[in-house]
Amino acid sequence: MLRSNSFRQKRALCQLRSFSSLLKSHAYINGKWVEAGNKDMFNVINPANGNVVGIVPNMDVNDAVRAVSAAKKALNNSEWHSFTAKDRSDLLKKWFYLIKQNADEISSIMTTESGKPISEARGEVTYGNAFLEWFAEQARRIYGEVIPSPIKNREIVVLKQPLGVAALITPWNFPLAMITRKTGAALAAGCTIVMKPAEDTPLTALALVKLAEEAGFPDGVVNIITTNKAAPIGDYFCKSLDVNGISFTGSTEVGKLLFRNSSGGIKRISLELGGNAPFIVFKSANLENAVEAAVSCKFRNCGQTCISANRFFLQHEIHDEFIELFKQRVAALKVGDGSKPGVQIGPLINTTQFNKVCTYVEDARLKCAKVILGGKALNELGELFYSPTIITNVPSSAKLYTEEIFGPVASIIKFKTEPEVIKAANDTRRGLAGYFFSEDIQQVFRVAKLLELGMVGVNEGLISAAEAPFGGVKESGIGREGCHHGIDEYVEVKYICFGNLKY
Ligand code: NAP
Repeated sequence: MLRSNSFRQKRALCQLRSFSSLLKSHAYINGKWVEAGNKDMFNVINPANGNVVGIVPNMDVNDAVRAVSAAKKALNNSEWHSFTAKDRSDLLKKWFYLIKQNADEISSIMTTESGKPISEARGEVTYGNAFLEWFAEQARRIYGEVIPSPIKNREIVVLKQPLGVAALITPWNFPLAMITRKTGAALAAGCTIVMKPAEDTPLTALALVKLAEEAGFPDGVVNIITTNKAAPIGDYFCKSLDVNGISFTGSTEVGKLLFRNSSGGIKRISLELGGNAPFIVFKSANLENAVEAAVSCKFRNCGQTCISANRFFLQHEIHDEFIELFKQRVAALKVGDGSKPGVQIGPLINTTQFNKVCTYVEDARLKCAKVILGGKALNELGELFYSPTIITNVPSSAKLYTEEIFGPVASIIKFKTEPEVIKAANDTRRGLAGYFFSEDIQQVFRVAKLLELGMVGVNEGLISAAEAPFGGVKESGIGREGCHHGIDEYVEVKYICFGNLKY
């Protein structure tokens, strides 16, 4: 770990700052760019080549306490408190436009720290920024209600008030969109926020906060802390009475831990967790569409997407033809450093993720699944590259079937009947997204209703949009992000009873 007074660190910092004005090496608390209280820092690594691309504060619970105190003070501070919905909307719009103007620089930072191809990083800036635009508009529509009273001379009035201080914990796979999906809603509702981005991708988040500062959010409204020791900070967020709600996107395991630890204070919690998406192709499907969707749904972001297709179920009549077409398309994908033009698949994010992919593929091989494409590390490109892979005959006992692979591996299972595939698709405690392809209108409605999922793509493999409610059922989470429902996570519903009115 580099210390703040080391020569190497100072030199690295100078080089980094000259690369981009948005590349920050401090966290942001109460309107100031700050170091960790203990001065500790950690490196951010480019997964494509192992180079250090940033150095950020390695904060601890004391820094989290500072950030939460600032957010709490700002909540009650007259400036933010006195902002109208229109004022909050205007600020969010300003932030949106600044991100739009700086899209190229943000995309480069994102590719450098996450490894995703630059074209995908640009796509994420557009997609993620749409949440700020959407919630800027929604800020003005957080309507209350007047409900007809059953009792004479009484009025039932319902207000929606800000939840308070919101702690936002995000993963590395969408370093921008996971931040804007939460911050947009929280700020529109009038909350103040403390963000904790992933250890692997803090730089994109810090760049966004730099632009939030430029947009003019009052001090203490937007705070961010960086760390590679997330657990104690997460625990503090759960237990602190100054944190009114937690919004977490990440693994189901950590989500469960936060849920458990928040129960003491009955804290509001919103969880966007892992999936195990089925991708079903029925015999009536338009195969060209299905194959096209399969490629983007599976291999986008090197398969490191929570709504990535995890298990492909192919009806036996079209099984072989689909595989032939799919194989041709996947074999043509260009793997490499995401900053290079034309690259479609970058590296996996880190060694843990890389080892997981290797282990799961080996497990499937041992259980008699057949690797028909790829199935190996691409060491010639770097330590974290894995070839786009297709595996057929994957048994239900394989880890590829029961767990979320989060890598460029397509697992294929053959099925005969609709009831059989519905049962198999639902045979998991995860219920985030799923997809199916069919031209049979009766089947379309039937299957869409029977799948135990929060989101279903029918003849479509890319389903995310700021306008649509994102979230899962079962162990894939609680709550929804995006859409007008996204605001609900950050407001308290207050009922005011006006009695004894003289009419
Ligand atoms: P993760 O390990 O759960 O980490 C997510 C975030 O939580 C990171 O910021 C991480 O910090 C932090 N964290 C880790 N342990 C913590 C703890 N004990 N207390 C508080 N925070 C803690 O997940 P990941 O591996 O980064 O992300 C992949 C997972 O996220 C997949 O399962 C994927 O499906 C899911 N995901 C879900 C959605 C959705 O919308 N449903 C979207 C994207 C991803 P560090 O980085 O420092 O460990």
